[in-house]
Amino acid sequence: MRLVDLLPGETGVITKILGHGAFRKRVMEMGFVRGREVTCMLNAPLQDPIKYALMDYEVSLRRLEASMIEIMPLQEWHEHETDADKAEKKATAQHDEDAAHAVRHDKIINVALLGNPNCGKTSLFNIVSGANEHVGNYAGVTVDAKSGHLNYKGYRINIVDLPGTYSLSAYSPEEQYVVRYLRDETPDVMINVIVASNLERNLYMTTELIDMNRPMVIALNMYDELEKSGATLKYKELGAMLGVPIIPTVASTGRGVHDLLDTVIEVYEMSHPDTRHIHVKMSSEIEAGVDVLRADLKAEPNVPPHFATRYLAIKLLEGDPEAELLIRNTPDYNQIIKDRDRVAAEIKEKINEDVQTAIAANKYGFIQGALAETLVGDLVHEEKTTKIIDAVVTNKLFGFPIFLAAMFFIFWCTFELGSYPMEWIEDLVGWISRLLSQYMPDGPLKDLILDGIIGGVGGVIVFLPNILILYFFISFMEDSGYMARVAFIMDKLMHKMGLHGKSFIPLVTGFGCNVPAIMSTRIIESSSSRLITILILPFMSCSARLPIYVLLAGAFFPHHGAIVFFGLYLLGIIVAILTAKMLRKFWFKADETPFVMELPPYRVPTYKAVVRSMWSKAKQYLQKMGGLILVASIIIWALSYFPRYSFQQIPQSYLENTLAEMPSDELNEKSPEEINELVLHSYQQEHSILGSIGKVCEPVVRPMELGWQSCVSLIAGMAAKEVVVSTMGVLYVGDDDADALSERLKTPSPLTGKAPFTTASAIAFLVFVLLYFPCVATLTATIRETGNWKYGVFSLVYNTALAWILAVVAFNIANLFS
Ligand code: GDP
Ligand code: MG
Repeated sequence: MRLVDLLPGETGVITKILGHGAFRKRVMEMGFVRGREVTCMLNAPLQDPIKYALMDYEVSLRRLEASMIEIMPLQEWHEHETDADKAEKKATAQHDEDAAHAVRHDKIINVALLGNPNCGKTSLFNIVSGANEHVGNYAGVTVDAKSGHLNYKGYRINIVDLPGTYSLSAYSPEEQYVVRYLRDETPDVMINVIVASNLERNLYMTTELIDMNRPMVIALNMYDELEKSGATLKYKELGAMLGVPIIPTVASTGRGVHDLLDTVIEVYEMSHPDTRHIHVKMSSEIEAGVDVLRADLKAEPNVPPHFATRYLAIKLLEGDPEAELLIRNTPDYNQIIKDRDRVAAEIKEKINEDVQTAIAANKYGFIQGALAETLVGDLVHEEKTTKIIDAVVTNKLFGFPIFLAAMFFIFWCTFELGSYPMEWIEDLVGWISRLLSQYMPDGPLKDLILDGIIGGVGGVIVFLPNILILYFFISFMEDSGYMARVAFIMDKLMHKMGLHGKSFIPLVTGFGCNVPAIMSTRIIESSSSRLITILILPFMSCSARLPIYVLLAGAFFPHHGAIVFFGLYLLGIIVAILTAKMLRKFWFKADETPFVMELPPYRVPTYKAVVRSMWSKAKQYLQKMGGLILVASIIIWALSYFPRYSFQQIPQSYLENTLAEMPSDELNEKSPEEINELVLHSYQQEHSILGSIGKVCEPVVRPMELGWQSCVSLIAGMAAKEVVVSTMGVLYVGDDDADALSERLKTPSPLTGKAPFTTASAIAFLVFVLLYFPCVATLTATIRETGNWKYGVFSLVYNTALAWILAVVAFNIANLFS
C-alpha cells in the first residue's frame, strides 16, 4: 500500500521509501522514515498536496511524492511487530546475536541481480535461492525476471534474476525490460555482477548504475579465473573509489556468497563504510549540458522521482527513449526536450563528436583510470586452451563434422548406456506387476492398477535414465561454452534460412523442451525472425519425444538405435530449415539485424551445476509422471475399459470372423477358454468408448498399416508427448502383463497373427511423432508469445499435415527395402 492511498483519519506505518537517493534523502529529512506512524489529515481526490500528521507536526506532500512511500496499515503493523517480538525473544534465548540484532527492523530486503550476459547472475541466483534456473555459458539464457528468496540472519532476502544487459540504454528488449524493472520495482539493494575477466566492459554498466544513485553492491564474480590469470585487482580500493563495496565471488561453487549477503544487509542498513554517492565525471562540456538538464528536471515538480536527476539528464542527453517516456506527461516536457536538443547540439559543436559517443568515451575513460590504479598485471582474456580448442571446433572444414560427431556420440550414449538402467527399472516394474497380479483379487481395481497405472506410468518411467543422460550432455555442452561455438558455426546456415545465429540458441533449448525455448526467442530483436524461429521450433525434437524413440528403436533397431536417433533429429532440423526458407519466401519479408555472437572462454562445468540441472530435470519428470501422465493413463484406461461386455454379448459374426482370421497353429495350441478370453478382450477394446473413437480416425493411419490403438495414442499425445507411450502401454496389453512394452509391440497377436508394428510402420510412426502437432503447452506458448492465435492454428495444421505426408513417404520407402 502506498501513502497516497491513505484516507483521512487513517494511520499507517512507513515501510519503505522508493525512488532515487536524493529523493529518499529529502523525504527522510522531512521525517518520513521506516517504522514511523503517519496519519492522513486531508486527502481530497485530485487535490494536491495532501496533508499528513507526522510526529505531531503537519506536513504536506505532493501526490507524486506520497505515491513513492510504501506503508502498512497500523493494525497489520502491530501484528507484524508482535511476530518480530516473539522472534526476538526466541533469538535472545538462543543467544543468536545476529537474529536478535535483526528482528527489530523491517526485515525484508528486495535484491535485484544486474550485469552483463553470461557473468554468472543465474548461478548466483540459484545458490542464494536454492532454485534450479537454467544456466549456460552463452548470452541470452535468461529472458525473464525470476524470483526466489532466502532467510538469512533474520532477514528475508527476496532476490530477482534479471536478463543480462551491457548497458541501460533501453534499445534491446532485455535492456528495456531491466530499466522498466528498476523503474517500477525499486529494489532495495542492487547487486551488480561483474566478471573479472572483462572488467572494462562490465564496469560500463556499473557507471550507469552509479548515476542512478541507489543502494548497490558489486559482486566480482569468477574471481577464480582472475586468480588463475595471475593478475591482481585491488578490489577494496576500487570499491572505495566507486563508492560501492566490491565482494569477490565464485558463483559456481558458492565462494564469497555469505560475504556478499552480509554486505547487502550492511548496505541496506546504511552502515557500510564504502557506500557513498560519487559522480562519474565527464568532460566539462558534457557536465555543463548535464547541469542544464538537471536544473530543468529539478525545477519541474512533476518529474517522477524514480530515477536520480543526474541519471535522467544523462539518459536524455543520450536520446534514450525510455527516459523521454518517463517525463512525457510533465507540463514542461517540450521545454526540456528543446533544451536537450540545444545542449546536445552545443556539445557536438564544441567537441566535434556526437553526445552519445562522447558520453561512452568519457565513461570508458573513467573506468580505465580507475583500473589503472587498481589492476596489477595483465588480464589475459582468452586463455591459450580456449584459442587452441576454438581453432579446431570452429574450423571451416572440421567444425561441422565435429558437431555432428558430437551429436552422434550423445545419442549413442543416450541409447546404449541408458539401456542398462532402463532394464533394471523395467525388471522392477515387471516384478511389481507380477506381484500384484498374483496377490490382488480379480476385478476392476486390479485392472486399473495393472493395466492403467502400471501399464501407463510404468511404461514411461523406464525412460528416465535416457532423459537424464541426454540432459547431462546438453547441460555439459551449454556450460562448457561449446554451444556458443555451435551457434557460431551455424550462423552461416542460419543466414541461408533468413535467420541468424541468435535464433540457434532457442533452437538448441528446444531439444530440451519447446516451451522455455519459445520464451527465449525474446532475445531476437527482429520480429519476423522471431516468428519464424517460434514456428520452426516444434521440429526440434524435445526430450518428451525421446521415450517414443527409445521404445521403438529398441524394439525394431536394437543395434542401430543411435543411428535412428541421429536420423530423426537430423530430419527435424532439415524440415525446420526448409520451413524457415519457405516462410521467409512466402510470408515474411527478409530483414537482417546485425548481431555479434560472443564466444565466452571455455569453462569446465562444475559438477554442482550439472548435478543441479539433472536433478531438477529428474524431479520434473517424476512430477509429470505423478501428475499429467498418471491422470492421462487412468482416463485412457477407463475409456478403453468401459462399457463392459460379457462373452454372451459378442455377436456370432464377430466371433466367426475372428476365428477365421486366427492362424491355425495358435488355434490348435490354445484351449477354448483361452481363445474365448482373447476374443472377449479384443471385442471389449474395439467396442469401448476409446475403440469407437479410434475406429473413426483409423483411416488416417491405415496407409502406414497402423491400428486404431496407435492413432489414439497419437491423439492422446497432444496433452504431452510422453502420453503417447503411456497410452500405448495401456492399449497394447500382452499375454503376460510383465512383458516390457517394447516386446509387446513386436509380438504377433495370437488372434490375427500380426504384430502391432512392423519395421516400416515403426519408422513411419517415428517420423510422425517427430513432426506432428506440438503439445498443448507448446501451442499455448506459441499463441501467447506471438500474440496471435493464427500462428497456433498454422503450427497445428501445417505440422500435422507435413508429418502425415512424410510418414507415409517414409513407410513406402522402408517397405521397398524390407
Ligand atoms: P548469466 O548469463 O549471468 O545468468 O550467467 P550464468 O549463471 O548462466 O553463468 C554463465 C556461465 O559461467 C556458466 O557456464 C557458469 O557455470 C559459469 N560461471 C558462473 N559463475 C562462475 C564463477 O564464479 N567461476 C567460473 N569459473 N565459472 C562461473
Ligand atoms: Mg542468466
